[in-house]
Amino acid sequence: MVLPARGRTAGWPWPGLSATVPASRMAKVYFYYSAMNAGKSTVLLQSSHNYRERGMRTLLFTPAIDTRHGTGRIRSRIGLEADAFPLAAAEDLLVRVRDQHARAPVACVLVDEAQFLTPDQVWQVSDIADGLDIPVLCYGLRTDFQGKLFPGSAALLGIADDLTELKTICHCGRKATMNLRVDGQGRGVREGAQVEIGGNDRYVATCRRHFKDALAGRITVRPDAHGPR
Ligand SMILES: [Zn+2]
Repeated sequence: MVLPARGRTAGWPWPGLSATVPASRMAKVYFYYSAMNAGKSTVLLQSSHNYRERGMRTLLFTPAIDTRHGTGRIRSRIGLEADAFPLAAAEDLLVRVRDQHARAPVACVLVDEAQFLTPDQVWQVSDIADGLDIPVLCYGLRTDFQGKLFPGSAALLGIADDLTELKTICHCGRKATMNLRVDGQGRGVREGAQVEIGGNDRYVATCRRHFKDALAGRITVRPDAHGPR
């Protein structure tokens, strides 16, 4: 389990201090990315638990766009769950964390569904690490159902300090890197809105080969059958 150490309270934006703090001690931005159903929320909740059992305070955020489990709730498929602060697209994440940090020191910030962050919010995430010296762990999908980067994921892939892929597998046994959207008959969907939160019944994590096979109509894939028909 990765547990980033919190660096000393020093460094930017306090001129002169940053040069004296080893780079390895500075807080980092971590991006854990994957396809659907790789256990991102489970890993997030476990990481938060690791901090809290040592008496360290964590802040959990989830984009307000995702209300499947009630606003402000992170729930993993294996049953773990925790309260989280909902975060709207227009909100400043740095301000939210700075306010909380002033009330009681924050050891780590964790963001679920980080693909839904705006690029501005990703830069705010970097300010939390660089300015407040608090590590930020972001968990999200790399790409959408068309294989295109989500804006939040693109920004995180661009500027995060540490990139880790959480792996899951396709029905064929290869690593699943794609998020196939399927219709009621298990056919791959090519067109539609990027964000269509409705959960696992509309998406299947597949390898790239089977993603292309489904979009080309060569196979159908049932989300609940874990394989092509
Ligand atoms: Zn496959």
